[in-house]
Amino acid sequence: MTTAALSVVIPMYNEQEVLPLLIARLRPLLDGAGLDYEVVAVDDGSSDATAPMLLLACREWPRLRVVRLRRNSGHQAALTAGLHRARGEYVASIDADLQDPPEKILEMLALARAESLDIVYGVRDDRTTDTFFKRQTAQAYYRVMRRLVGKKVPHNAGDFRLLSRAAVEALRAMPERQPVYRLLVPWLGFPSGEVAYRRDVRAAGSTKYPLSRMVALAFDSVTNFSAAPLRLATWSGLVSFFVCFVLGCYSVVRFVMHETVSGWTSLFTVVLFLGGVQLLCLGLLGEYMGRLYAEVKGRPTYIVGYDSAEAAELAQAR
Ligand code: UDP
Ligand code: MG
Repeated sequence: MTTAALSVVIPMYNEQEVLPLLIARLRPLLDGAGLDYEVVAVDDGSSDATAPMLLLACREWPRLRVVRLRRNSGHQAALTAGLHRARGEYVASIDADLQDPPEKILEMLALARAESLDIVYGVRDDRTTDTFFKRQTAQAYYRVMRRLVGKKVPHNAGDFRLLSRAAVEALRAMPERQPVYRLLVPWLGFPSGEVAYRRDVRAAGSTKYPLSRMVALAFDSVTNFSAAPLRLATWSGLVSFFVCFVLGCYSVVRFVMHETVSGWTSLFTVVLFLGGVQLLCLGLLGEYMGRLYAEVKGRPTYIVGYDSAEAAELAQAR
């Protein structure tokens, strides 16, 4: 059931510094657009003043809705909570830190309506505000993912996008516990368009995506869409077997010719190398098994503490 034309989902984790700036920029923009909208702020278990600040803000901005998660569940889980609860005909998702310009949401909406698109990606047309390291790793990430998922994955499109109700429902129907939306959304195959934008630097506060989370996202992305690494394990096994076989034959021939191969070094190298390959393959298996385990346990991705919209409904019913 849709009750608004547009929902804007904003995951937030410890964003007290940026919150006032965000509201000051978003509210006049959306109010001025003459739209029936709701803003769904998903507080991802923040431990700073984000939660009380949001509750205060929604008293004077009735279109702001606060969904508080009980524990910090991660950006993608917070997005999931937002997508599950958004009631708009179109649902935009945007970061809280004003790196993505909120003005572009209206452009996305106009494009989606004009061309009957279900998905509009915000695509970064230049990454000069990112560090050299982030630029390089991002480029490698998108190149690999386009190979694994398909050419539909746009380059440099993060989690700033607009979805139609049909696309949101398709996502909601998926029971995945570790979704990576920037890949799952293109995978859906709905008609899509792009809006280019320049990514600003974070308006205030500090990044909530340290390197460890970036690596985790990369692992999730690959294992979510492909078993290719497992096949790689098989191939590395085959190649090692072949090399070992040839080396073995060579040693036997030398032995028969009474020229025993000397070499502690070569032996040690081979043992270490094979040990390394075996551990790597075991680790790969473990990555997939861990994810299987999480899916099988079936624990929810997030647990909602409160939803201000439901609280309002409750208060009305009383
Ligand atoms: N975020 C979240 N939960 C987390 C980490 C991040 O909801 O556990 C939110 C964060 O508040 C922000 C968005 O995800 O709105 C993107 O995070 P951030 O801007 O820190 O990432 P970066 O832009 O540095 O990659
Ligand atoms: Mg950011």
